[in-house]
Amino acid sequence: MMNYQSTRGKIVVSDTRAVLQGMAPDGGLFIDPEIKNIDFDWEKCLRLDSLGMARMILSALLPGYKNMEELVRKAYTGKFQTDDLTPLVPVGEDYVLELFRGPTSAFKDVALSMLPQLMTAARAQEGIKDETVILTATSGDTGKAALEGFHDVEGTRIIVFYPHNGVSAVQKAQMVTQTGANVKVCAVRGNFDDCQQGVKKAFGEINTKGLLTGSGMSLSSANSINIGRLAPQVVYYFIAYAKLLGLGRIKKGDLVDYVVPTGNFGDILAGYFAKLMGLPVGRLVCASNANRVLTDFLNTGVYDRRRDFIRTSSPSMDILVSSNLERLLYLAAEGDTAYVSACMEALAKDGVYQVSDKVLQNIRRDFSAGCCSEAETEKTIGRVWRDCAYLCDPHTAVAFAVAEEYKKQRQGGAPVVVLSTASPYKFPAAVLKAIGGGTEGDEFAQMETLSRITNTPIPQNLSGLRSREVLHKDLIDKDDMLNYILDTLNIRK
Ligand SMILES: *Cc1c(COP(=O)(O)O)cnc(C)c1O
Repeated sequence: MMNYQSTRGKIVVSDTRAVLQGMAPDGGLFIDPEIKNIDFDWEKCLRLDSLGMARMILSALLPGYKNMEELVRKAYTGKFQTDDLTPLVPVGEDYVLELFRGPTSAFKDVALSMLPQLMTAARAQEGIKDETVILTATSGDTGKAALEGFHDVEGTRIIVFYPHNGVSAVQKAQMVTQTGANVKVCAVRGNFDDCQQGVKKAFGEINTKGLLTGSGMSLSSANSINIGRLAPQVVYYFIAYAKLLGLGRIKKGDLVDYVVPTGNFGDILAGYFAKLMGLPVGRLVCASNANRVLTDFLNTGVYDRRRDFIRTSSPSMDILVSSNLERLLYLAAEGDTAYVSACMEALAKDGVYQVSDKVLQNIRRDFSAGCCSEAETEKTIGRVWRDCAYLCDPHTAVAFAVAEEYKKQRQGGAPVVVLSTASPYKFPAAVLKAIGGGTEGDEFAQMETLSRITNTPIPQNLSGLRSREVLHKDLIDKDDMLNYILDTLNIRK
């Protein structure tokens, strides 16, 4: 067992409980307070295959689980296009880590294939009879990946909220055609931050008022605020490193820089965990789109969400309140939960906080940041396609553009791994426009055009979407999310 503590106070629970609860009752996120001192044989880990690495890393981060090997096998076997899960592809002088080769063509699959296994096993180990109700806010990709992972999983129900007009037509089609007796999908008039805020508020209200007490149900989350989402993402940083070793590009111990397209700060934080576990990670470069709140924070120490929310061609990164940054703050503030609470209260109340020079210094020791405009994103998709014959989606393009800038300024020449988080086929309009193709027709016609022009295959899970029946048509105001949840669960208010 390992103790997980809230970033905002004294609450401590076991790792299995942390996965089941998703978020601490005081509003904080669960973290292992000893992660900086974790004892991990990273060199041994690098000699294993991908599933072996997953078993070893997850066992270290979540040691309370009794049968991690079996859970990993059930989560991943046969679900990804390749046995190594996340292929590493040389592109120009850099490397792309393709995280999107799973069942829904988004990187969220890596974690959300694993999370249902972790939840089911935790329920069994803890002897929990309550049904676990998973509330999820999505900027487009988490929703489908969570639905894919949890549909028809015994003892669970899942409710997904997505921003109306805030996701691509393909993303929407993926979600609203989802089958399963335990799933519910609902559009919200608002943006992703509204959805995420609504879910957090509903969590708070339901828990403080005990609205589910005696109902035989309890809440959890499939967002990256759940430590069970974060832990599986640590694995592919090791996979990439092992591949570079195998290619002879590096020797053991050489540093590797990772550039990560970032929204909620989950993906890049997992890279930091990998570093704390001993992996020779050089710099972690946080790449933002035009919603550059993280770039500004990492450059100035001021986190200021009081700005316009910009809808971009990389919608999964259209986020102004980046949840997992709270975990980094906790680590950079040496576990000072009062400090973290004060920052988070200021953010909630005033929309802004500033960290001390010391905390900022601690963060900047490992992290760099850059951002990319819409015009630059489009240009980058075109350039990478023309110069390197590699087709990337807008999120990955943001990371590519930031990587280029970063390489001009850095010292040293460590290999650069660009994390690729979605298939270009999830965003066919933006990609076609960028490479100079015609964008006639709906997104499904555009997928076919894209395939024809670039001579690349449409991922199977996307090609059949158009003909599938729409099963979910609910649309609500953002203030009605709690009521919607209670109605769905048949709870009297
Ligand atoms: C979720 C997502 C991101 C952002 O990842 P975070 O962990 O939220 O920082 C980037 N790209 C795509 C395609 C995503 O779905």
